[in-house]
Amino acid sequence: MPPQVLDAMADAARSFVELDELQRLAGERLAELTRNEAACVSSGAAAGLVLATAACVAGGDPAAIARLPDVEGLKDEVIVHRTHRNGYDHAVRQVGVRLVEIGCAEGTSLADLEAAFSARTAAVFWFQGAMCTPGDLPLRDVIGAAHARGVPVVVDAAAQLPPVENLWRFTRELGADLAVFSGGKDLRGPQCSGLVVGRRDLVRACVLNGNPNHSIGRPMKVGKEEIAGLVAAVDRYVHLDHAAREAWCEDVVAHWNESLCRLPGITAVRDFPNEAGQPLPWTLVTVDPSAPVGRDEIVRRLDEGEPCVKVAPWRSSGIHLNPMTLEPGEEGVVLARIIEAASGSA
Ligand SMILES: *Cc1c(COP(=O)(O)O)cnc(C)c1O
Repeated sequence: MPPQVLDAMADAARSFVELDELQRLAGERLAELTRNEAACVSSGAAAGLVLATAACVAGGDPAAIARLPDVEGLKDEVIVHRTHRNGYDHAVRQVGVRLVEIGCAEGTSLADLEAAFSARTAAVFWFQGAMCTPGDLPLRDVIGAAHARGVPVVVDAAAQLPPVENLWRFTRELGADLAVFSGGKDLRGPQCSGLVVGRRDLVRACVLNGNPNHSIGRPMKVGKEEIAGLVAAVDRYVHLDHAAREAWCEDVVAHWNESLCRLPGITAVRDFPNEAGQPLPWTLVTVDPSAPVGRDEIVRRLDEGEPCVKVAPWRSSGIHLNPMTLEPGEEGVVLARIIEAASGSA
């Protein structure tokens, strides 16, 4: 976490606050910073998905809020692309809803979506990221069809920063009702913070379905330190020089590639975008069978050496190197460790 985030958390830790008021004021500031109608803080993007689902199912109705995950008599169906099914949809399911899948790996049609709506449809969820496939319906069409029936659309955009514009693009430009971001990823806020932005009534319902209210979100407490930390993190992020950061990543990747290509049996090229679809470059290293040390052994040495360097193995001979989580200066440490791991005897 950057210093201003740590400072905000330390400040919050020194004071007693009224949580409802802090959440309200933080929400107002976050809405302003992210150009949204409303915003609130959750204890992570996954918790934000729980609150967003609860908001679509129970709204702000105290009786319904108290009853979840008992959804008897409530709208209890959530439509989702079959291709988007992933580990995070557990967060949606734990509210008691049933996922109604549409489409298949070959593609999804508007007719698939139309046929899935029923009187019990609470929301359509859209997971943005590596799970998206070219055959998916365009998000714009999903939103158009859902809104024609008065059904809200929630976008899981947990890892969709950068670009910073995504903070308002899904909601303000594409018209999604809610978008959920992780506070602990590129925002570099507290690990256990998440950001929910969008429609005022739904954000209010998220808050009512969360801590400190007795609700499905009560065990997903977001502390005053995380709330204050996330506001500081978003403030920093929207004022950051993103072009300079991108240029830095390009420089790191270019330097890595040039240096690594000098190693016997190793090639390194720029790859784009990265694994979460973020528009930043990363390096794809390929270890040829003729290289003195094999791919798996390089990965093992990087992991076990000092300092430990975690890399992403790719298929059978590749290694992805992502500069995103490095502080300036650390790129040289990573390079030195790879040269060391890839040289010498197996
Ligand atoms: C990371 C991620 C989450 C969870 O975010 P947390 O802030 O760790 O709860 C949810 N959905 C997607 C698509 C993610 O990439």
